[in-house]
Amino acid sequence: METVTTIAAARDRLDRARADGATVGLVPTMGYLHEGHASLIERAAAEHPFVAVTVFVNPLQFGPTEDLDAYPRDLAADQQLIERCGGTLVIAPSVEEMYPRPILTTVTVAEVSARLEGASRPTHFAGVATVVAKLFNLAGPCHAYFGEKDWQQVAVIRRMAQDLNFPVTVVACPIVREPDGLARSSRNVYLTEPERAAAPVLHRALEAGIAAIERGERDPAAIHRLMADLVGAEPHAALDYAEVVDAATLTPVDPLAGELRLLVAARFGRARLIDNVGVEVASGS
Ligand code: AMP
Repeated sequence: METVTTIAAARDRLDRARADGATVGLVPTMGYLHEGHASLIERAAAEHPFVAVTVFVNPLQFGPTEDLDAYPRDLAADQQLIERCGGTLVIAPSVEEMYPRPILTTVTVAEVSARLEGASRPTHFAGVATVVAKLFNLAGPCHAYFGEKDWQQVAVIRRMAQDLNFPVTVVACPIVREPDGLARSSRNVYLTEPERAAAPVLHRALEAGIAAIERGERDPAAIHRLMADLVGAEPHAALDYAEVVDAATLTPVDPLAGELRLLVAARFGRARLIDNVGVEVASGS
C-alpha cells in the first residue's frame, strides 16, 4: 500500500491502475477511521482490485462555529486500518494542495441540500459537493463508496454525479453501529461517559418511529412528535430535528407512503450526532 499527498501523484496512480486493466473503488473520508469506514473499504476491495481511500478534513464543509480545528486526526492509525481492509492507495493531501488559493468555483446541489442537515448547516453541502467533485475529477472513472449514515449526503452526491456527468457510480453502504445501536462516528470521541450512555436514544427514537409506522401510523407529524419526545426526554440530548421524509428526495410526505427515511440529529455536549433508518410503506396499506 502506498500513500500519496499530491493530486498529480494520485491521478497518476489511478490512471496507471486503469491502464493495467484494474477497476477502481474510491472511498472518500475525513480520516480518524473506524469500523464504519472499514466496511466501505472492505466492500470496495471485494468489488475492485484497486481501492483508493482519501483522507482529508475538508475545511469547506465546516461552518465558522463548527469543530474543524478539534476534528480528530490520526493518519498512522488510518493507514493501518486501510491496509488491513484491503486498500491499495491512501490519498492524504494537505489543505494547501486541495485549496492552493481561495476557491471561487463551488458546486451546490439545490433542493436535495435544502432541508434537514442543509437547514442546520447552511454551507455544509456546498462544501461537501465541491470537495467530492474535486476528488471525482482527480480519481476518474470509478465506483465511489459512501455510508448511509450520512443519508442526505449520499443523495446530494448521487444527484451531483448524475447532473454533472461524472464517470462515477455512487454506491451506498449500510450503517455500522455499536452493539447498543449508536452509529459509529469519528465524532463519538467527543462524548463524555454520561453523553455516550445517552447517545443510543437516537437509534431508539428511530426504531420507535418505524414501529409506529409499521403499526399503521401515517401522520408524519405524529412520527415527528414521537421521536422528538423520546430524544427530548433525555437530559444530555438537545434535539435539532426528527423527521420522516421521502427517502430519495428528502421532501415531506403526507400521508406517509412509499420509500421513507426517518432522520434525527441532536447535540450531546460538544458532539452533534446524526442517524437515520429506512422503512417502506406499500401503497394502499
Ligand atoms: P467521514 O469520515 O465522517 O466523512 O465519513 C466518510 C464516509 O464514511 C462517509 O461516506 C460516511 O457516510 C461513512 N461512514 C461514517 N460512519 C459510518 C458508519 N457508522 N457506517 C457506515 N458508513 C459510515
